[in-house]
Amino acid sequence: MKKHAQRRIIRAIILISLLALAGFSIRPAIHLSNAISGNHKTRGELPYNQADDASRLNQTKVNEVWHIPVDTDDAEAQLAELLERAQKHRLKVSIAGAKHSMGGHTIYPDGIVINTTSWNGMELDTERSILKVQSGALWSDILPYLNKHGKSVAIMQSNHSFSVGGSISVNCHGWQYGRPPIASSVESFRIMLADGTIERCSRQENRELFSLALGGYGLFGIILDVDLHVVPNELYRIEQHIVPVDESMATFDSKIKNQPGLQMVYARMNIVPENLLGEVILNAFYSVPGGQTKELTEPTMTELRRAVFRGSAESNFGKKLRWNAETKLQPSLKDKNISRNQLFNEGVEVFENRSTETTDILHEYFVPRHRVPKFVNTMRKILKAHEPNLLNVTVRSVERDEDTFLRYADQQMIAFVMLYVQQRTDTGERAMESLTRELIDAALENNGRYYLPYRLHATQKQFHRAYPNASEFFTLKRKYDPQELFQNQFYLKYGSIQR
Ligand SMILES: Cc1cc2nc3c(=O)[nH]c(=O)nc-3n(C[C@H](O)[C@H](O)[C@H](O)COP(=O)(O)OP(=O)(O)OC[C@H]3O[C@@H](n4cnc5c(N)ncnc54)[C@H](O)[C@@H]3O)c2cc1C
Repeated sequence: MKKHAQRRIIRAIILISLLALAGFSIRPAIHLSNAISGNHKTRGELPYNQADDASRLNQTKVNEVWHIPVDTDDAEAQLAELLERAQKHRLKVSIAGAKHSMGGHTIYPDGIVINTTSWNGMELDTERSILKVQSGALWSDILPYLNKHGKSVAIMQSNHSFSVGGSISVNCHGWQYGRPPIASSVESFRIMLADGTIERCSRQENRELFSLALGGYGLFGIILDVDLHVVPNELYRIEQHIVPVDESMATFDSKIKNQPGLQMVYARMNIVPENLLGEVILNAFYSVPGGQTKELTEPTMTELRRAVFRGSAESNFGKKLRWNAETKLQPSLKDKNISRNQLFNEGVEVFENRSTETTDILHEYFVPRHRVPKFVNTMRKILKAHEPNLLNVTVRSVERDEDTFLRYADQQMIAFVMLYVQQRTDTGERAMESLTRELIDAALENNGRYYLPYRLHATQKQFHRAYPNASEFFTLKRKYDPQELFQNQFYLKYGSIQR
């Protein structure tokens, strides 16, 4: 038996024993061993000249997938030549990082896809705490590099699988407390426009283009490299509070918000149907003064955590088992202290859906804090009516975005990130579309917005209500790219002028 298979089984036995000790029956053991048996599956490869994204619902024929060559000087000249060739042959160009957007934002039918991921060099200016990094670099490339220098990423998503270019082009956010989205940590970047010229953009130079390309979904040009502010890598102490949803804000205010050293916060809501959104786990991370950080290590117990997570997609029993594991067992299993970089050092593949029949789909809604109780009540009603297979609801706070044009955080917002399992069929798609539209309406009624990198289910009306300056955004896109060279499915649905 291979070593890693042995390790998997041993860990499974440990967890099952822990669950048994906690008073559960033999049913969890059977449930988990079924979930573990699916762990070995991998996602299939795409056929030649086909593109898709993390949704696995967007497989599209493209003309060419072009990888940026690694040699810097020559690469930029080759990239400019590629754009000229595309213009000459009237081909549209889309830009792809790690392709974790879900609405064809990296794809144009029969177009050229520029794959940036080989473009991943980086250099740290320790004095200024600025990382100069090429846009195809993934956080998983960056974290080990910064770790050696005692630094960390200032703002990023909850996992490390994303590219810098993709992250700033959707203006991602994380659970770094008291921080706006990632654009606030960008000092400057260089971008290649449709005519092959390169511009530097910052708050002082080309300010308009700076605000458009950040959160600009690849519609203004190819972001080449970025100067990103970085922060110290510190040791954090973890604290958890499990409370009824109605007490969550008060608990946050009295027990978390004003504690010294607060750095990161997120909450996870109960998704077990009997107590849907009724209870919340609040997770807070505080700096440990003088705490020593260590070398980065691989995430631990991934097979088990995957089994518990994927098992929760299978049945309500699995959802209950996971909630019990998270609320009763996880606090005692977790390291009490963890470094910031270690916290970020996990990829999305740990939990990814590898089934051929279903796929996992993300949604995200932003509402101002005082509207949260009303939004949660409406969300619960919608979920009860639709009965989707809901896997996760996490909650974070995002400060007002002062930098981007097409902004979701036009004020301080509470973000609800939801993960669902969906059938990869037309029926599955229609059901998800109808659920999404109702949830978007609920967010809009509460002065909220929804996040744009996911499925393109919002109607035109909903999109423009959520982003009132979107028409101006697309007019400016055509000012910088008059031939509309840079296009993708997002632009086709919401931005292009029908000719
Ligand atoms: C499992 C999962 C978890 C997630 N968690 C979070 C989260 O915690 N917080 C959050 O905010 N978001 C989250 N997201 C969304 C994620 O941040 C975005 O999908 C992000 O775009 C992913 O980066 P990417 O490299 O995959 O981008 P891609 O999907 O490759 O690209 C996204 C957009 O950026 C453009 N783009 C990419 N590179 C460049 C470039 N060099 N120049 C110009 N344009 C470019 C593309 O054209 C496209 O429009 C999550 C997504 C998934 C699937």
